[in-house]
Amino acid sequence: MKALIRGMIELTKDQDTYKDKGARKRLIEELKQKGIIDKTVLDVMLKIPRHLFIHKDFRSHAYQDKAFPIGSGQTISQPYTVAFQTQILHIEKGDKVLEIGTGSGYQAAVLIEMGVNLVTIERQEALYLKTKKLLTDLGMKANFILGDGSLGKYEDGPFDKIIVTAGAPKVPMALVNQLKIGGIMIIPVGNEEEQIMHSLVKKADGEIEAIPLTKFRFVPLIGEQAW
Ligand code: SAM
Repeated sequence: MKALIRGMIELTKDQDTYKDKGARKRLIEELKQKGIIDKTVLDVMLKIPRHLFIHKDFRSHAYQDKAFPIGSGQTISQPYTVAFQTQILHIEKGDKVLEIGTGSGYQAAVLIEMGVNLVTIERQEALYLKTKKLLTDLGMKANFILGDGSLGKYEDGPFDKIIVTAGAPKVPMALVNQLKIGGIMIIPVGNEEEQIMHSLVKKADGEIEAIPLTKFRFVPLIGEQAW
């Protein structure tokens, strides 16, 4: 089948309607107004049909800047959060990226579309199975792993970029150890109610420079080096 955009199969007009496309365009304008400036992030989010990553009953809500339930007590991140985290990572084509918390697969789709080699870990089996099938059906390739992402995936590392999409009580050392020199990690750290997004850069001497950014609220990162 002909690829419409890199990585993703061509969708029919029913799968991605003019109404969906129009709503997506308005969402992107909203993200710009909220301070997202990375053109590649905005372009990719304009192309990825977010409505395919949530239950079909929510289709008309898919382009609101909101999180939604995706089953197993989890949520698809708010589009602003996806754009914010992705923008901080300064993604380059060919980057080896580790995502913790595959969830709906929307964040994964954005990263894959940006040309990264993605390893994505989810601890909920139902979500892992559903999302692996969805992204594979859409023609998007990644290494999908079922397991505890707080431990990372040592055998596949080190990684240029690490993105944690669940709230952690502290930065898991396993993830720090799997970040390349010069690599960037984005991770929300705090209590279960509220977290501060942190951008971490591993310097040449192996030291970590941590920059606290703004407040977010995520579902908890549950695992050996987490809650
Ligand atoms: N990136 C996701 C998306 O685009 O939909 C965000 C999903 S949600 C905010 C966070 C996800 O992290 C949930 O699916 C949850 O099951 C998962 N999670 C929590 N702790 C985890 C862990 N230790 N390892 C892997 N996944 C975890």
